[in-house]
Amino acid sequence: MMFGWCEKCKAIVMNGECSIHDRVKPISHINSIDIHPLPSIVKNLINERAEGLELGKGVFALYGDHIYHRKIVTLEKPIAEIKFTSGPKTPSSKLQSVVQIFYRQLKGVVNSDNENGESSRNFYERVKSVYSQKKGGGTTGDRFLADFLNDLKSRISISYDCSPSGEDINDTVEYIFQWCTEESKNLKSIYEYINENYPGLVEHPNKKDNIRIKPLVEGKINGMKKESLIKANEDRLDWLAEVSKTFSEWELESFGNENAVISFSGGKDSTVLSQILQGHDFKNVFVDTTIEFPETYDFIERLQEKGWNIDVVRAEQSWFNLCAKKGFPKYKNRWCCKTQKLNPFQKYLEENFDGEKVLVFSGERRWESLNRQSQPFKKQHKHIESQMTVHPMLDWLSMDIWMYTWKHDLPVNDLYNYFSRGGCWVCPFGLYTRQHILQYTHPRYFKTLMKVKSKYSS
Ligand code: SF4
Ligand SMILES: [Zn+2]
Repeated sequence: MMFGWCEKCKAIVMNGECSIHDRVKPISHINSIDIHPLPSIVKNLINERAEGLELGKGVFALYGDHIYHRKIVTLEKPIAEIKFTSGPKTPSSKLQSVVQIFYRQLKGVVNSDNENGESSRNFYERVKSVYSQKKGGGTTGDRFLADFLNDLKSRISISYDCSPSGEDINDTVEYIFQWCTEESKNLKSIYEYINENYPGLVEHPNKKDNIRIKPLVEGKINGMKKESLIKANEDRLDWLAEVSKTFSEWELESFGNENAVISFSGGKDSTVLSQILQGHDFKNVFVDTTIEFPETYDFIERLQEKGWNIDVVRAEQSWFNLCAKKGFPKYKNRWCCKTQKLNPFQKYLEENFDGEKVLVFSGERRWESLNRQSQPFKKQHKHIESQMTVHPMLDWLSMDIWMYTWKHDLPVNDLYNYFSRGGCWVCPFGLYTRQHILQYTHPRYFKTLMKVKSKYSS
């Protein structure tokens, strides 16, 4: 797959040719396939943090150039890098990491090594200036560090004084750290003490500290116009839709009976699939795992009100009840995919089709994940005997889905303001960045998730 840039349309072209202007410049820096538009919350994060760069109107594209960790906003050239520096943290581990960083940097100052993050020199200068300011500018030389530690120790009852240099300082730093790590309430109080008395020395743990954004260009930049994108890619979009439709109908004809449904997740792919297959009388089947985002429930309701033919099948037990019994799902034990997704769907098929074979249309795409790379267009379901799954949209890219959605003015789940894909909000798999973003978009859910995770993880 080669992306191109049409200079005249000022738009990304998903294959070698613009529908209007033919020739396009290859974009070589996009080395990941599934590029998608930038969710608006990420755009806001960039605008808040990327100094000198402001993303204006229009469509920006995002892709990963490093699995999970790093994304680049693109036009004809990359304009910013986004780095998710670590997984989301529970409040206490966040606190711990803040104090740990502080400790390592203090230690770096004492030992004059340079190991962590901000260089010791920098940190030393920062402690010095913050401390001097507090003392009315009166502290000079190296004495400030000992004074600072003496101040700090008043909070935690250390049994000796610090001399300006040498062993004592080292011991004091060690002691503070141990005292800090023993219990999270100690961490909290030492953190609060530092923060109150020396503001700016350590970063607030609740600050958005695990997303780093590096601007690669400066100034206000507008994205691509939707209309230009659609025009430049029109031939491809028409072709993809035609192929998916023809293939589905061909499968249906040769199936032997008329039993068919669309597996409908409330996401963008199944919405497009449903649109492509309109005219057939299939039900869209939405499985309510009990852990869908509120936006998804709203979206399903909205569609039903508009007359979309959607059956909702709810999992028998709530995910939280089961989690208390079975533990938080693990990579190798995703029990909930069975209890919350597979079982209810199987039951639906049995009840509605009396155990006869059913053709299930699914909007899965090859580029969604590595696992799906070698997905066949049609396959017998591994666990549900009556289910024959058809994937008519395997070759669509995320960007194709979006352009098709805009072109046909299809309804969109509000979740896409935040994430590049939907799914269960508790899910620890699949979308690594979701939990980062969840903190900002659904803080209550994030808190619940962190609680449940720490309570039921084994
Ligand atoms: S997608 Fe994740 S949370 Fe949802 S059922 Fe499967 S493992 Fe569980
Ligand atoms: Zn063009």
